[in-house]
Amino acid sequence: MLTAIAGINWGDEGKGRMVDLLSEGYDIICRYQGGNNAGHTVVNDKGKFVLNLLPSGILRGNVTNVMGNGMVIDLEHLCGEIEKLKEKGITVNPENLKISDKAFICMPYHKQQDILEEERLGDKKYGSTKRGIAPVYGDKYMKKGLRLLDLFSPETLEQKLVNILSWKNLTIKSYGGDDVDSARILSWLAEYGNKLLPFITDTTEYLNKSAGEGKNILFEAQLGALRDIDYGIYPYTTSSQTLASYAPVGAGIPGKKIDKVIGVMKAYSSSVGEGPFTVEMSGDEASALREAGAEYGAATGRPRRVGAFDIPASRYGVMTQGADEISLTKLDVLSYMDKIPVCTAYEIDGKQCDQFPSGDKLTGAKPVFEKLDGFKTDISKCRKAEDLPDAAISYIRFLEKAVGCPIRYVSVGAGRDEYLEMKNQEL
Ligand code: GDP
Ligand code: MG
Repeated sequence: MLTAIAGINWGDEGKGRMVDLLSEGYDIICRYQGGNNAGHTVVNDKGKFVLNLLPSGILRGNVTNVMGNGMVIDLEHLCGEIEKLKEKGITVNPENLKISDKAFICMPYHKQQDILEEERLGDKKYGSTKRGIAPVYGDKYMKKGLRLLDLFSPETLEQKLVNILSWKNLTIKSYGGDDVDSARILSWLAEYGNKLLPFITDTTEYLNKSAGEGKNILFEAQLGALRDIDYGIYPYTTSSQTLASYAPVGAGIPGKKIDKVIGVMKAYSSSVGEGPFTVEMSGDEASALREAGAEYGAATGRPRRVGAFDIPASRYGVMTQGADEISLTKLDVLSYMDKIPVCTAYEIDGKQCDQFPSGDKLTGAKPVFEKLDGFKTDISKCRKAEDLPDAAISYIRFLEKAVGCPIRYVSVGAGRDEYLEMKNQEL
């Protein structure tokens, strides 16, 4: 069985928490795209963990975690993440962590380039996390990247790096930066690369063999549908494919089909960084929701932009992810609201529209709101659908119908057991 857990919205839907919960019964958990630009927060009996690169399954025993070829990996950051887990008593060894030899290395000069470009853009900046993600993916497609497998051949690695730097320095210099020194990069690669060598392997062989043995494989995405480079709110997207259909390709098992896609959808909206965000709240209304939902970036600590649930965007997210079922998260956060606003359509050029537009149409879209009854009680202790107040059930059913996908799980707190399962209903 191959399952993907993917974000329906702009990211930070609570995917890490759902993977931590639903990974029971899976033998292998794979990350298939992205780098340390986004963060998953997982709270369980071992404590609170923020994971940027490692798959969330690292917190479970008896699970093998794969970091796929679609990822870009900052070696220093990964070593730090592994160290932090070890300090908290979590085992990380070549048995439970396998890193694709075809994943790309995110270099210190990628970070430098990211920072230089955001500075150059000034108030037109993209809101990058400045972790080098766009430059490293750019270099991948320019065929100027280095992969983890290069670490095994120090002799040729040096020459490859020197060649790349003669090109990269043209760019860095044009920003007024100093030449990147190959000796410094080589010692960085040696220091952190050597620590990771035992984990680096051909994950394609491993995954295909495991699938052949009937192992259950779970793919874990970073960010959400609206940040996908092809289908998201370009250019305010990430630089990789966040959609579930990419999971087998980016994880290392491109010939296999996914059996099930679980979409993780938040009960309201949040977005980090720049770009169109039609449902954005401001002032006290925004502060109240941000505080209730603790909406601050897991990777950067930045306050997240927040807003009402967005039906056109979420329906598009469900469609592009190909979600078979939904896990709705953070419903408990809305319990302070008397009335819950929901964006049911967009108004574009004076016309109401329920499709999610792209480009300038999206930038110019205005939200059309409907207000649903609030539930005004603490629902964080509810563990069965029957425990929920009627208004909460109505809210769930309203969203389910609007996005056209059954909501199977509803999470009402960050902890592993703070969720309930809905009974299926005809949509
Ligand atoms: P991800 O990037 O999709 O994995 O999500 P993040 O971890 O960045 O953000 C989700 C945040 O919400 C984390 O701090 C979680 O601990 C927290 N969280 C997840 N589910 C719930 C929930 O149902 N209720 C509440 N109150 N918090 C939740
Ligand atoms: Mg996150």
